[in-house]
Amino acid sequence: MEITRIPLRLSSAYLLRGRGAVLVDTGCPGEEDRLLRAVARAGVDPARLSLVLCTHGHGDHAGGAAGVSRRTGAPVAVHAADAAMLRRGRNDPLVPRGVEARLVKLFADVDPRAHDPEIIVSGVLDLGPFGIDALAEPVPGHTPGSLVVRTSDGDVIAGDLLRGGVLGGAVAARRPLPHYFSDRPAAVGPALARLAAAGARTLHLGHGGPVDVRRAVERFPVGSR
Ligand SMILES: [Zn+2]
Ligand SMILES: [Zn+2]
Repeated sequence: MEITRIPLRLSSAYLLRGRGAVLVDTGCPGEEDRLLRAVARAGVDPARLSLVLCTHGHGDHAGGAAGVSRRTGAPVAVHAADAAMLRRGRNDPLVPRGVEARLVKLFADVDPRAHDPEIIVSGVLDLGPFGIDALAEPVPGHTPGSLVVRTSDGDVIAGDLLRGGVLGGAVAARRPLPHYFSDRPAAVGPALARLAAAGARTLHLGHGGPVDVRRAVERFPVGSR
């Protein structure tokens, strides 16, 4: 499977290509043109996207889902616990961790464009029917409805489970750091341990990265927060 990172203003989206093509995350509202141009440049006709999957409901990831779905016809999948953010077009209150996070919140609290998601995920979603050998799995920690996409090759599109480096990865991108916002920090260590046990090797993140799973497990031992 081929993974193409699409850097956007605040976050990265990822294009996954196997028998079909799935877009994971969509940047902020208003970034749809840039995103779909990048998809086309990567060799995929946007009209052939089989699915738009949001790792969570925050507007810097699910923000463009409405526009991308409207332009491509692809259904949007989001976890049940984050679906309300997308439906109403407003983030749940971000839970900042520390002073720096409070500052980041001033520009990172972007609401998604409202969209009624076509697919509500509650357990594990097999992406096989969408042409990708991967599973979308609930991994809470950042938001109650955060999902990761884990491929059979050990790659994980991990959204905001953690962040890679500072300034969106401009510095030390491969260094695993706690995300600025987390509603359940203690869930991150166990989640990483589960992913490692399932054969995950590389985390492709919404901000910075990629991060080696072993390094992340060392940084977030079970019991840390
Ligand atoms: Zn987020
Ligand atoms: Zn984010």
